[in-house]
Amino acid sequence: MKIGGLVKFTLIDFPGRPAAIVFTQGCNFRCRYCHNPELVYPHLFTEPVAEEEIWSFLQRRQGTLEGVVVSGGEPTLHEDLPVFMARLKAMGYATKLDTNGARPAMLKELIDQKLVDFIAMDLKAPLGKYSVITGVETNPEILRQSMDLIRTSGLEYEFRTTYDKEVLTDTDIKALEELTQHKNYRVQECLPVAKEKATLKVLHQEI
Ligand code: SF4
Repeated sequence: MKIGGLVKFTLIDFPGRPAAIVFTQGCNFRCRYCHNPELVYPHLFTEPVAEEEIWSFLQRRQGTLEGVVVSGGEPTLHEDLPVFMARLKAMGYATKLDTNGARPAMLKELIDQKLVDFIAMDLKAPLGKYSVITGVETNPEILRQSMDLIRTSGLEYEFRTTYDKEVLTDTDIKALEELTQHKNYRVQECLPVAKEKATLKVLHQEI
């Protein structure tokens, strides 16, 4: 996988578990509020973090960290994601996937092979209004497939929306609440990008 960064410790990104976060490079969306352009736009990519650096760190933290979040970018674009997740599981880590839901076939593979414990899927907007946020055309049926897979997986999961009030309305949020059947759904504030940059700066900080 192409890995753009590593956060070595978080208590807030994997519910109930101290965790690390691995950020993959590359995304098929171009969200207007994206906080991680360095993981989305190829001309902003930095030299990928060597996978061996990740494995060596995770070996040292076995018994201290309980989970690893794989985020991005969009992790499901990486064909070797199942291999990566399998290695995490073999090391005893619980795994969480952050996804935009655009690749249900990869989600199915991860679920079927029991390689993921928690899935968080972004719901950018009501399904007919997606491109207003993502900047690309997205087939609503693909997103529905991902939602159905997640809902019926038996895994811990969460759907979440960043409430960009410049383009989403309260009616949109109500529609999304209905779409998620009012279950495991969270709306988060749309933070200015500059605030989030502070997070990216800790990517290589030792703890
Ligand atoms: S899906 Fe996530 S990483 Fe990709 S452009 Fe949107 S906010 Fe950024």
